[in-house]
Amino acid sequence: MVNRIPVVNWFKDDPQDPRLIGKQCKNCGTYYFPAVKFCRNPKCMSDELVDVELSNKGKLWSHSTNFYQPPEPFVAEPFLDSEGNFKGYTVCIVTLEKEQMSIAGQLASGYTHEQIKTGMDMELVIEPLWTDEEGEHTEWKWKPVL
Ligand SMILES: [Zn+2]
Repeated sequence: MVNRIPVVNWFKDDPQDPRLIGKQCKNCGTYYFPAVKFCRNPKCMSDELVDVELSNKGKLWSHSTNFYQPPEPFVAEPFLDSEGNFKGYTVCIVTLEKEQMSIAGQLASGYTHEQIKTGMDMELVIEPLWTDEEGEHTEWKWKPVL
């Protein structure tokens, strides 16, 4: 069994029910991701926030594909083609079904920007960002519902 190491502790790495873990204000109901220590609503400012599992489905609001290679410490290896050329990566912004908040994340592996279209259904997946001797370093990504 490969060791899975989340790069941040903001999500639940459960293949059956992957979730981002945010906060919700107990006073006004506002959702936050990533977590905050007090409510940013100027009419509220409560510090009573509780952990919430956010929707793992939503609609693609926007997306952008980058063909330049970011500098170190960015790990380029998953983004190289068989000849070692940088093949780019796509970032998706998805509006969560219930909370109606927009969350950025990479497009899931195995999909290309040609397959996605704004307004389409997307679902959360937890995937390795890179693998080394420690195991798979995981992060959330967005997978199109095709
Ligand atoms: Zn509040």
